[in-house]
Amino acid sequence: MSVIPFLELQTQYRAIEAEVRGAIDRVLERGWYVLGEEGASFEGEFAAWVGTAHAVGVGSGTEAIHLALRAAGVGPGEDVITVANTCVPTVAGIGASGARPVLVDAHPETLTIDPDLIAAAVTDRTRAIVPVHLYGHPCDMDPILAVARAHKLVVVEDCAQAHGALYKGRACGTLGDLAAFSFYPSKNLGALGDGGAVTTNDAAFSESLRRLRNYGEETRYHHTVQGFNSRLDEMQAAVLRAKLPHVDGWNAARRGLAAQYGEALEGLPVQLPPCAPWALSNAHLYPIRTARRDALQAHLQAAGIQTLMHYPIPIHLQPAYASLGFCAGDFPVSEAACASVLSLPLYPALSPAAVSEVAAAVRRFFT
Ligand SMILES: *Cc1c(COP(=O)(O)O)cnc(C)c1O
Repeated sequence: MSVIPFLELQTQYRAIEAEVRGAIDRVLERGWYVLGEEGASFEGEFAAWVGTAHAVGVGSGTEAIHLALRAAGVGPGEDVITVANTCVPTVAGIGASGARPVLVDAHPETLTIDPDLIAAAVTDRTRAIVPVHLYGHPCDMDPILAVARAHKLVVVEDCAQAHGALYKGRACGTLGDLAAFSFYPSKNLGALGDGGAVTTNDAAFSESLRRLRNYGEETRYHHTVQGFNSRLDEMQAAVLRAKLPHVDGWNAARRGLAAQYGEALEGLPVQLPPCAPWALSNAHLYPIRTARRDALQAHLQAAGIQTLMHYPIPIHLQPAYASLGFCAGDFPVSEAACASVLSLPLYPALSPAAVSEVAAAVRRFFT
C-alpha cells in the first residue's frame, strides 16, 4: 500500500538542492557561523518580502514571541491576551517574557481569537495582545487593533503559520506593532532546523531585539540590558535565503491544492477550513471539522493516509497551564474545535493525484 505522509520535505529539497548546497558551502567556506553576512542579508530580504522596515533573526518562533514582548517592555506582573485555540509555543513565548497569558475564546467561523471577547478580558494589568493567524488564516485584525488602540496595548502577531497570508490585501507580519515568525522545518518557509524572526516598522524595537538576542550587548563587551542567547545562525540564514524566493510559488501551489480539496469534498458532512471574506490564507494547513473526527482519522490511517490534529487539546486544558485558572467549559468554541479538527496532508510537493486520493478516502468514509 502506498502511503501519503502528512508532510514530506525531501521532494522540495531535491528541487532546490543546488541552491541549498551552494548556500551551505558559502557558509563553510567563509567559516563564520553566528551573526554575520548571511543573517544580515536574510533579515533585509525577509523584511522586504514581508513589507516591514526591519526583521531581526532569532532562535525560534517561540523566542520571537518572547523577545518581541520584551522589546516592547512587557514583563512580570503584566498580562498578555491570546487565544485558547493555539499551539503551546504561543503561550510558552508569552510565559518566557514573565508576563501571564490570559486566554479568550476563538470565533466559531475563523477559529482565531474572537475580537469581541478581547475588551472584556482587558484589566489594568493588560499590556499586549498576541493574535495567532492559525492555519495561515489571518485573524480579523481591524477590531483587534481598535481594542489595542483604545487600551494602549501592544500587538504582537503570531505569524508562525502565516508567511505570505493576507488580511484585506495587507501582509500578516505588517499589521501589529511587532510580528513573530517561525522557520521550523514544517512552516511555509522552513529552515533545516530551528529559526525565527521578528518583523517591525519600529527602529527602537528592532534595536532592542538585536541587543536582547545577543546577551544584551550594545557594543562589544558593553551590556546595557540583561539579554539572552537567541540568534538565527548563519547556516540557517543562508538556507532561508535560498528558499525565500520560492515561497510565493510554494504558497500558490498550496492554495491550488487547498482549492482542489474544497471542490472534491463538496457536499460531504465536513466543515471546510476557515475562509473569511477578508482573508487570503497561505494554506499552511488544511483542517477540516467533523464530529466523527477520531473515526475518520482511523479510516484514513488504514488507507495509508497520515493526518494530524491542530490541536487536540486547547491551552487551558493542558496540565502545564492549569495554574492560569481556567477549566473545561470556559472556552466552548476552542474546545469544540479541538474535538473536531483533522488536518489533511497539504504541502507544495503533494501531487494533485494524492489530493484526489485523500478526498476519495474521506468520501468513502461518509458514504
Ligand atoms: C510553530 C509555531 C510556533 C513556534 O515556533 P517554533 O519555531 O517551533 O518555536 C508558535 N506559534 C504557532 C502558531 C506555531 O505554529
